[in-house]
Amino acid sequence: MQKLVAIKGMNDILPPESARWEWLEDKVRALMARYAYRNMRTPIVEPTPLFVRGLGEVTDIVEKEMYSFEDRLNGEQLTLRPEATAGVVRAVVEHSMLYDGGKRLYYMGPMFRHERPQRGRYRQFHQIGAEALGFPGAHADAELILLAHALWQELGLQDVRLELNSLGQPEERRAHRAALIQYLEQHQDQLDEDARRRLYSNPLRILDTKNPAMQAMVEGAPRLMDFLGEASLAHFEGVKAILEANGVAWRINPRLVRGMDYYNLTVFEFITDRLGSQGTICGGGRYDYLIEQIGGKPAPAVGWAIGVERVLELLKEQGVAAPEAAADAYAVVPDPAQLPRVMAHLQQLRALGVMVQMHAPTAAGEGMGSMKSQFKKADASGARFALVFGADEWARGAVTVKPLREAGEQAERPLDSLADWAATLQSSR
Ligand code: ATP
Ligand code: MG
Repeated sequence: MQKLVAIKGMNDILPPESARWEWLEDKVRALMARYAYRNMRTPIVEPTPLFVRGLGEVTDIVEKEMYSFEDRLNGEQLTLRPEATAGVVRAVVEHSMLYDGGKRLYYMGPMFRHERPQRGRYRQFHQIGAEALGFPGAHADAELILLAHALWQELGLQDVRLELNSLGQPEERRAHRAALIQYLEQHQDQLDEDARRRLYSNPLRILDTKNPAMQAMVEGAPRLMDFLGEASLAHFEGVKAILEANGVAWRINPRLVRGMDYYNLTVFEFITDRLGSQGTICGGGRYDYLIEQIGGKPAPAVGWAIGVERVLELLKEQGVAAPEAAADAYAVVPDPAQLPRVMAHLQQLRALGVMVQMHAPTAAGEGMGSMKSQFKKADASGARFALVFGADEWARGAVTVKPLREAGEQAERPLDSLADWAATLQSSR
């Protein structure tokens, strides 16, 4: 039979690696709670028009990266979400979540984009995102940046820099756009195919090109920042003042435009040089017009999304050890007849918070295996202690506790004092 394998660019996340994921997710949950951001879970499949309308027709994502298909039963056009902001906004509007004021929300989960798979770029990848909806002030932009910054510190991430830009408001962009098109027309001969295609549809994106042959030309292009009015500049200054007061460094990148059409005013990215060309680990910005675009009552919003694979990759690159996954105790059970009673004791230990792995044979009809083979498995498991439920111990109403990883003699413990043992174990973990 033909071997079935996963789809290219879609990865299995297996133990022990999955422990890193859980560790990261735990940190994120705890941090979000401290900033009063609440969890939000939206469907992985959404109607295609949500993304076409929300992200913009001439974006990389909508033009060529979406997994879209027709619902065979009713002919509806559906898409696996390439990002989650559009879905969050849809849900916020659908459930009138802004009726009593702003909302701070976060999500974690898989996203899907049909890209060329490479390190840090996959077809199913994971994002953690935070959104603050209903708050027009610069403090919301700054709070989100501080939140991401705090996460890097929490994780022990180094060599991450913050790049900032302001895209201003639509009318300011229109003025800049006209000047930009004029400039690009004067440099037609230097435009690559992508740029020529975008010249009139999305010229701002040309500034974001990764083509080295276009860098010099793009450097000399009119800067959006020079077209911003007083209010836009004041908003930007407001964000920077808060970052400054919090000791967060940044660099202005006038060419930072971001991939989605929905951004205005502040845009930002956290970037590392340690992951090659896939160095952006977090990107975000303000999107004051998206809610209206999706059919809601106009309301301001700002948010970011983190690429989880890239963050984990960077942690590995820095040599941050994966968290220990071994159990506290490995139960050695010489006599299968004792299993029911042994398992009752193991249940009690687990209820007390002890991580317990029980020996279990992997072939049928083998019994539990010899003591020797069970101890070998106990050792290999990485557990701190072996608990030996032997016949002699049973007779005395006890269990033998044998340290596997640290000095100390094995000792018998009465079964009715396991709670005490669990308590000392936890305090020494
Ligand atoms: P890039 O320029 O690298 O394609 P993007 O602008 O398309 O990124 P966003 O849509 O802003 O990315 O998504 C936010 C973050 O999600 C990115 O900064 C990145 O860390 C991560 N990300 C985006 N696409 C992928 C992917 N295909 N595989 C892994 N991570 C991704
Ligand atoms: Mg992309």
